[in-house]
Amino acid sequence: METADFIVIGGGIAGASVGYELSLHGKVVVLEMEASAGYHSTGRSAAVMSENYGPALWSRLVTASRAFLETPPDGFADVPLVTPRGALFLARDGEQARLLDQAEEMLRRGAAIEMTTAREALRFCPVVRDSEFVSALYEPDCKDIDTNALLTGYLRALRKNGGTFIPDARVQSLQHSQGTWQASSPRGNFEAPVVVNAAGGWVQEIAELAGLSFRNVVPFRRTAVVFDPPAGSAIQGWPMTFDVAETFYFKPEAGRIMVSPVDMAPSAPCDAQADELEVAVAIDRIHRCTTMEVRTVSHKWGGLRTFAPDHEPVIGRDPEQPSFIWLAGQGGNGVMAGAAAARLAASFALDAAIPADLVGLGMTAENVSPGRVCVVDPDAAAPVVGKLEDFA
Ligand SMILES: Cc1cc2nc3c(=O)[nH]c(=O)nc-3n(C[C@H](O)[C@H](O)[C@H](O)COP(=O)(O)OP(=O)(O)OC[C@H]3O[C@@H](n4cnc5c(N)ncnc54)[C@H](O)[C@@H]3O)c2cc1C
Repeated sequence: METADFIVIGGGIAGASVGYELSLHGKVVVLEMEASAGYHSTGRSAAVMSENYGPALWSRLVTASRAFLETPPDGFADVPLVTPRGALFLARDGEQARLLDQAEEMLRRGAAIEMTTAREALRFCPVVRDSEFVSALYEPDCKDIDTNALLTGYLRALRKNGGTFIPDARVQSLQHSQGTWQASSPRGNFEAPVVVNAAGGWVQEIAELAGLSFRNVVPFRRTAVVFDPPAGSAIQGWPMTFDVAETFYFKPEAGRIMVSPVDMAPSAPCDAQADELEVAVAIDRIHRCTTMEVRTVSHKWGGLRTFAPDHEPVIGRDPEQPSFIWLAGQGGNGVMAGAAAARLAASFALDAAIPADLVGLGMTAENVSPGRVCVVDPDAAAPVVGKLEDFA
């Protein structure tokens, strides 16, 4: 039996980042069921950071993560964690009010924005079919994230601080007695007074292992498709381009274009694959909303995004067992907001105050609590679309 101060379950961005934060305070063991870190959602993301993406609390955690991503601690990574990308949000007729709400919320948080007409937006992305849209919001500070460098940096710093990352270590049982958690895995048995559940799409399964009641934090599949850009176009400077109605986004990706039809199909926790129908939908949306033609799909993949019914963070002490800490429900914000989410989760694991910058952004134990009604009520299963105006 190996003893630690904290057992973290899951070796994606959530587990690695909270493992790093906790390793500044005690001995941490991060257990990952796959052979390497980041195999599931973390390795399948679009890898962008936008302060205008996701529901209100998540997007505030993006704002609070920006400083870490732009200026990580000395020696954290050998390359910049983020590089400029820019983001363009396109509104159709009837959607301008929503775009303006998003602009106001971003300005409140000090984010830079530029409002343009759809036609003027062609200077950012010349392939937008401007007849489809009316107005646009440009976010110059949207960045590409080097997810691999971020994950590697966290795990390297974790080890430097005396922590351990153990792959091929699927947690098979989890028991609490006399103030100690015992976790068994094919790589050995571990004990610690505090467990952090950072198992992505599997968080509910981990709660079941711990003997806790159902918590409404469940995975949904999303599809991504990569195709060759129009011959001769200089795509590298194009922004990540979204429509406000959330029917697609596309971005340059290593010399090609990645597009997602932003599908959201309920899924079991699994090795998610691209859905063929959604691949066709993605191509159709590119044809309708841009002047690009998709001739060959060079690559496609699926990934899980895990949500509470209100799409907001599930971070904090389990209402039945306060030494079981949730870091879950990241949806589409887990990489970009991971740094601040990890600090928030660590404050609960350490029984410390919520960091002041997060309090300043409106984060409270209650509004991210795993004990809030929609998370504990098994009947509150229908997900809502968690955009800013629903929560601001
Ligand atoms: C197509 C797509 C595009 C996206 N784009 C973006 C984006 O641009 N920006 C952004 O910020 N986010 C994006 N996301 C969301 C982001 O990928 C997730 O929010 C984030 O990766 C979640 O991280 P995680 O660590 O919680 O989950 P994961 O990376 O899935 O990690 C959880 C880990 O737990 C492990 N595990 C499960 N059960 C056990 C067990 N019993 N024992 C041990 N280990 C276990 C799993 O193997 C897994 O490695 C996107 C997601 C998708 C699918």
